[in-house]
Amino acid sequence: MNPRKRPNILLVAALGAGLFFVSSSSGTPEKIIEDSRFFMGTVVQIKVSIDPAKIGEAKAKDAMSKAFDEIKRIEDVYSVYKDTSEISRINRLRKNERLQITDGAFNLIHKTLDYSERTDGAFDITVKPLVDLWGRARKANKPPDEYELKRVLGRVGYKNVVLDEVARTIHFKKEGMSIDLGGAAKGYATDRAVHILEENGIDNALVNSGGDMYCLGKRTAHELWKVGVQHPRDRNKLFLEIKLMDRAIDTSGDYERYFIIDGKRYSHIIDPRTGYPIGDNVVSASVIAADSTTSDILATAMCILGEKGFDIIKSESAGIDAVLVTIDAGRLTVKMSEGIRKRYDISEETL
Ligand code: AMP
Ligand code: MG
Repeated sequence: MNPRKRPNILLVAALGAGLFFVSSSSGTPEKIIEDSRFFMGTVVQIKVSIDPAKIGEAKAKDAMSKAFDEIKRIEDVYSVYKDTSEISRINRLRKNERLQITDGAFNLIHKTLDYSERTDGAFDITVKPLVDLWGRARKANKPPDEYELKRVLGRVGYKNVVLDEVARTIHFKKEGMSIDLGGAAKGYATDRAVHILEENGIDNALVNSGGDMYCLGKRTAHELWKVGVQHPRDRNKLFLEIKLMDRAIDTSGDYERYFIIDGKRYSHIIDPRTGYPIGDNVVSASVIAADSTTSDILATAMCILGEKGFDIIKSESAGIDAVLVTIDAGRLTVKMSEGIRKRYDISEETL
């Protein structure tokens, strides 16, 4: 098995399609309703656990439908592939030209800039000119030359994005800048979907946007949602099972989304400080946080920062945890933050 396949986060409990019952030990049958749709280039799955005595099935399905609508809306707003999206309008801005943006976009961009600061610029949505440069390199089957890379690098840097809190505008301090929310948008969509479910009376649910997951409440009265991190060498094996309640988990380092130029494999995650895709050392990073936007951002950042990322995890408020899988001379190693090690009583190991 390819050792660098993505260790997807799998839902290990509640498998099966459609609608089915599970019993809680109190004897009340909880009903789990499940549906999935294709958005943002991935499968988005929602599972809702209801007590039929308290909330009707039709109401639960209606809540799910509204949550899917919200994800579709997010895709329309944040996609760089849609000319009419708010992000595309931002990306057409000239130097110092201001654009008033929606509160949703303002707050999300604000959060990503905050995390650029905290991750020493490892996570940086202004990476888009580099993403485009490497995209062109892939098409030409030739890595970009040093000169061009340096030139493009000059247009990257979160410090050149200005948000005006009062006027609610955004502008770039340099010509030719653009942003890409691909490292945070799926997590954000998950958070928004969870919010909509809650607003519509749902207390227990699991939303999974292609690996960006949030576990709301519990699966049953006496059972938490359980997610597993897949073994990177063996897709049928889990190396970690985690029980979560009101927490998000996300994994980055998707080696199914790499690209090849002239026979060499490159990651889709780019180090904005060097302009190059990240190297081969990090296989994957999984991050648990209070919200899915944060776990999405930090999982991408951890892939760039490697073990140094644990310093950031430690300095964040309590409750953020990470699992990092690295490879060195063919050997896979797992490193975990203290919270996970303690909670699951597992030692770091070589897989
Ligand atoms: P993820 O799958 O969440 O790790 O996000 C990867 C995506 O984020 C890439 O496909 C790019 O669109 C974008 N991206 C790449 N490098 C970075 C970076 N250093 N900071 C922020 N976003 C990035
Ligand atoms: Mg991410």
